[in-house]
Amino acid sequence: MVSRTTDDYQKLAIAGCEILCEPAFWAGFDRSSAQGFYDYFRQLTEYEPKRAEKFGIKHYCWLCINPKEADDPVFAREVMSLIPDFLQRNTVLGIGEIGLNKNTRNELTIFEEHVQIALQYDLPILIHTPHLEDKKKGTKLILDALANFSSLQREKVIIDHVEEHTAAMVLDQGYWAGMTLYPESKCTPNRAIDMLETLGSDRLWLNSACDWGVSDPLAVPKCALEMKKREHSAAFIEEVCYHNPARFLSQSKNFSL
Ligand SMILES: [Zn+2]
Repeated sequence: MVSRTTDDYQKLAIAGCEILCEPAFWAGFDRSSAQGFYDYFRQLTEYEPKRAEKFGIKHYCWLCINPKEADDPVFAREVMSLIPDFLQRNTVLGIGEIGLNKNTRNELTIFEEHVQIALQYDLPILIHTPHLEDKKKGTKLILDALANFSSLQREKVIIDHVEEHTAAMVLDQGYWAGMTLYPESKCTPNRAIDMLETLGSDRLWLNSACDWGVSDPLAVPKCALEMKKREHSAAFIEEVCYHNPARFLSQSKNFSL
């Protein structure tokens, strides 16, 4: 929501959105200091919940240094050292969105160190997978890295931005899978529904891309409407759009409906 206007909150509220969760991500520019992240974490935990509350929406967040800015391990660790203090705040759900951007060695190291933090504090994890041609390779690298954490509860991890060629491998290994909806490129509502028809609804959720590119905060309700047009039952739509995210997020100590 840091990239969104107040009008978007209004539209979300009208569309029936009660709760949203915002991952820590790229803010449209690379931050030049850890202090920049300190202020960003304050924005996510202090300012955005208040802005959302004005529209009757409860705002939660995830914290991390996103992979796009995490290729310098010294810098990344400086940012990560800020995280434990913010975990005390009662709208923080867990660690995310961590993951890979260009699939570099440094990104992978920082990814693994974030997983350690999540394990240490017993938090759910939200994982970003790279887009386009790097997606399959990046997803495999992430799954291999996660497999080394023997104490990890896989049902507390969601791997986001899955597509047709990555969804099954994520689900088969016991993780949740997120389908991020974009209006035109990447995963459109119709592609997501095709995947739901193939994979079923177990451990899958839909989310709206809300970033600095062309994206639509109403993508989930629009997809629900598209599901209705394709004659999916109200119960199935409710399961995917409401109960599944509620089920996953309820694993976080701070989450309540
Ligand atoms: Zn992402």
